[in-house]
Amino acid sequence: MSDKSFNAFKMAQQQFDEIAEKLDLDESTKVLLRTPMREYHFTIPVRMDDNSVQVFQGFRVQHNDARGPAKGGIRFHPQETADTVKALATWMTWKCAVVNIPLGGGKGGIICDPHNLSPREQEQICRGWVRQIVRNVGPLQDVPAPDVMSNAQHMLWMLDEYETITGEKSPGFITGKPIGMGGSLGRTEATGFGVIYTLREALKNIGVDVKQTQAAFQGFGNVAQYAIKLYHQYGGRTICVSCWDQGDQTSYTFRKKEGIDLDQLLGITNRYGGIDKKKAQELGYEVLSGDAWIEQDVDILIPAALENQINADTVKKISPKVKFLAEGANGPTTPEADAVLKEKNVFVIPDFLANAGGVTCSYFEQVQCNMNYFWTKDEVLSKLDTIMTSAFHAVYELARKKNIYMRDAAYHIAISRVAEACKLRGWI
Ligand code: NAD
Repeated sequence: MSDKSFNAFKMAQQQFDEIAEKLDLDESTKVLLRTPMREYHFTIPVRMDDNSVQVFQGFRVQHNDARGPAKGGIRFHPQETADTVKALATWMTWKCAVVNIPLGGGKGGIICDPHNLSPREQEQICRGWVRQIVRNVGPLQDVPAPDVMSNAQHMLWMLDEYETITGEKSPGFITGKPIGMGGSLGRTEATGFGVIYTLREALKNIGVDVKQTQAAFQGFGNVAQYAIKLYHQYGGRTICVSCWDQGDQTSYTFRKKEGIDLDQLLGITNRYGGIDKKKAQELGYEVLSGDAWIEQDVDILIPAALENQINADTVKKISPKVKFLAEGANGPTTPEADAVLKEKNVFVIPDFLANAGGVTCSYFEQVQCNMNYFWTKDEVLSKLDTIMTSAFHAVYELARKKNIYMRDAAYHIAISRVAEACKLRGWI
């Protein structure tokens, strides 16, 4: 969101248009699928602690719900835009379809910065968001979840407001709730582990021993931390991670060529995924520039921070040694960079496949809530592995059969499934 010229929705549409052309979709299907079905913009007036009233802007976008209720997070961000929400809702449609869970794509947002809001003000914003959209969301319509800067407490306030208005207990209305209040075990690990389940399958199929590989990560938050944990359990070695330094307002890469020690680094990391630079130096880490992670001579790159990180400029810095790119973040690679990666023959596990573990586990949360019966963490993670592995293989087989790029194969599968659902329903 920092680069003003970057428009995530334009990128999502560009990616869709390229595949729609190859899939030979008819004109009405193209128009339907490149445009969100419903888009809500609304105001949320909140009485602040100083007794003034501040009016916040809220959004909910339902891109497509032909395959099931829309699903997607609510982002709290001061630079949130309608176009970012639209892009993320579109990607959610493809993400749910590629892992074949019976959900559509949605996304929400509120322009605000929780750092500058008291807990009471945040609660009022959450309740206000639900009041404005209550008729258009629900367990059978559209199921929200946390996203950037929103958390389990926010979800619980939203659920409470929803249940207060409807007069019913509906824990399946929202996911990402605290454990014991309808949350699912395994959700914290799900996205990072999902990235590594797909990477494991990619390495196995291409005949690369994970124990002989080295990786560089961008980001050291929820996704990266659990991805590193499982990657190390499988025997891989991470030589660097990069993250944002709030104090210096810049990013740094922390490198240890013999391999980072995850627990040691976690011990000097704050809850926003920022590493203490001084302590890292004391522990023998080299502190390099923020973009150094992309230049490392490693086998695997895992962007797990932000969108638009591998673009026409930065793609040139990727070492010829890199053979795999597993996208933990949403939209980290631009179409211009994709063209270069294709040429270099880098094996890409695209974002909406690689990071679909999060939404898959959110789907499990919804299922458990609707049953009012909860699984153990092992059950959740084993079901997650099954879904991620089978989704990876479907994409990989198609990519091999048609000799196409992995991102294109994933889009083929996802778009075809959604187009088919629209057709079967008689919409097009
Ligand atoms: P997070 O907030 O827990 O961590 C983000 C990390 O990125 C932090 O370590 C932060 O320091 C780092 N970062 C921020 N700006 C950076 C910069 N300019 N350079 C280097 N590092 C930077 O977030 P997360 O939940 O780990 O999500 C990471 C990405 O994965 C996002 O794109 C998110 O949309 C995507 N994603 C997350 C989930 C999930 O379940 N958490 C699911 C799907 C996709």
